[in-house]
Amino acid sequence: TKPVPSDIEIAQSVSIQPITKVAQAAGILPEELITYGTTKAKVSLKVRDRLKSSPDGHLVIVAGINPTSLGEGKSTTTIGLSQALGAHLDKNVFTCIRQPSQGPTFGIKGGAAGGGWSQVIPMDDFNLHLTGDIHAISAANNLLAAAIDTRVLHERNQTDEALFGRLCPLNPKDGSRRFGRNMFGRLRKLGITTNDPNQLNPEEISKFVRLDINPDTIQWNRVVDVNDRYLRSMTIGKSPTEKGYLRDTSFDITVASEIMAILALATSLKDLRDRLGRIVVAESRSGDLITAEDLGVAGALTVLMKDALMPNLLQSLEGTPTFVHAGPFANLASGNSSVVADQLALKLVGSDGFAVTEAGFGSEIGLEKFVHLKCRLGGVKPSVIVLIATVRALKMHGGGPPVAAGVPLPSVYTEENVELVQKGFANLKRHIEHAKLYGVPVVVCCNRFHSDSERELECIVRLSKEAGAFDAVVSNHWEEGGKGAIDLGNAVINATTAPDKNFQFVYNDNESLRKKIETIATKVYGADGIEISEQAAERLDMYERKGFGQMPVCIAKTQYSLSADASLKGAPQGFVLPVREVRLSAGAGFVLAICGSIQTMPGLPTRPSYYDVDVDTETGRVIGLM
Ligand code: ADP
Repeated sequence: TKPVPSDIEIAQSVSIQPITKVAQAAGILPEELITYGTTKAKVSLKVRDRLKSSPDGHLVIVAGINPTSLGEGKSTTTIGLSQALGAHLDKNVFTCIRQPSQGPTFGIKGGAAGGGWSQVIPMDDFNLHLTGDIHAISAANNLLAAAIDTRVLHERNQTDEALFGRLCPLNPKDGSRRFGRNMFGRLRKLGITTNDPNQLNPEEISKFVRLDINPDTIQWNRVVDVNDRYLRSMTIGKSPTEKGYLRDTSFDITVASEIMAILALATSLKDLRDRLGRIVVAESRSGDLITAEDLGVAGALTVLMKDALMPNLLQSLEGTPTFVHAGPFANLASGNSSVVADQLALKLVGSDGFAVTEAGFGSEIGLEKFVHLKCRLGGVKPSVIVLIATVRALKMHGGGPPVAAGVPLPSVYTEENVELVQKGFANLKRHIEHAKLYGVPVVVCCNRFHSDSERELECIVRLSKEAGAFDAVVSNHWEEGGKGAIDLGNAVINATTAPDKNFQFVYNDNESLRKKIETIATKVYGADGIEISEQAAERLDMYERKGFGQMPVCIAKTQYSLSADASLKGAPQGFVLPVREVRLSAGAGFVLAICGSIQTMPGLPTRPSYYDVDVDTETGRVIGLM
């Protein structure tokens, strides 16, 4: 066989169709398309309204096992499967994938537009700024951060009267005062019904102007979309102009921002506005939860985010339509592309079509969050779950040495070793058992690499079927594009006809937050139980008292193990899940439980991917993006 060129060489070698043509073929009307140049566009949510009464297509979730640090080809398979369905099996199809963060693009992993002959193009736009959604999130997140600290500073240095005078200045012409439009949220929360500032009594003025934020409780970090470990901990406010109001804080990577999770879960502009308003940033000294609405900034945040709410349309190498939208990390956050992209895709493909959507990392985080956060909060329902496995990852789970980018794979990964694959199958088996809990047929896909032997691949297929998968197939879409994934496509089509589909959740809304965490730990991760730090326990109690107990939980933990300890490979047993910290994401609509030593700001390795990335100054082409 011919050697497969690099991802970017392939991506740049294929002639790309005008995005207007891709949109037209997908049934999107010209007035529903907002083009950004000729190869990418945003799609208006009006599509959903227009097709309100049309039936939805089948939703296929592509999830994985616990990966190596190189990735096991989940994006590649999501795209390859779509190409098989759309370009070879005559089905209407849409792919829904996440927009990558600049952190991994220039850090360890490189680009994430799929790979080989299963990619989304243009891959440089996809991996970099695209249409600016991630920048919009940074802008909104940091506007909110600035609003919090500035408010604390101003309240420290001014009397109630002075604050009121500035918040509602006198109109010198007629002596009247006016509320800003974003002040009514706070006024109504305080039970103040008047629209006229002159009607407020001194007690109401004091309550209105003084949020009285306790700086020690501020839980809103600034963000930047760069793996910049030096921003993990810092003191802000050191200039004399901040009059000694210093505070220790940190930066997170942008994709870990609650605003990213909100973008992924919001279902309309109104819902986006409401969610942004509900973001809890801190507590007051008397223990009230202070929101973005209290700070009067939620309207401005929505303005910054309104275009980002529309999914981005791109195409695969074989011209199938692809939504790229939202991209929270599945280890740190909700980890799935947007609800609106899935909703639009399901309508556009129609009853016999397929929306193929990817859930980040291993199924115990990506798929669990897909079901409990996205399906529950966004009302979408899967028809089939595809689990991606690779020989190399199973060998690692079977006891193979660690693998790393930029260094040759140890020989055990390139030579046949069925025994090691068989041992490592324990990891895939747990993922099959987990995926089956949701009552939807599970198809295992072995993403074939050159060095895999037939016997190794057969072993995975056989054991997967024995473990209860509806079907298991080998797929060669990286090397052959959609043609290489025809078996996978047929397996997915067959799975939609499986009897006894009974989609269900693993836990219920009315269980306590603690119980929800425990259920995920024991039923999904295979833990014996959970161990909650004192501080996390206090917070969970407080969230229950304040009425957030009905929310689902979002667990942040390493993607490299079923447990919270990255070194425990295979199917670990006899461990407890350590819940170190919990945070309320009231806008996104979940309680975040941080387990083990997961970082919300990644770092760069010694040899980051940026060493290879450059631009050909003759042609303007980007080179070296993996
Ligand atoms: P994931 O989504 O699981 O993180 P990706 O789809 O981004 O993984 O793939 C990670 C990398 O592995 C990409 O560079 C891709 O080109 C490469 N890759 C994926 N599948 C194969 C394969 N079957 N053979 C060779 N390389 C592959």
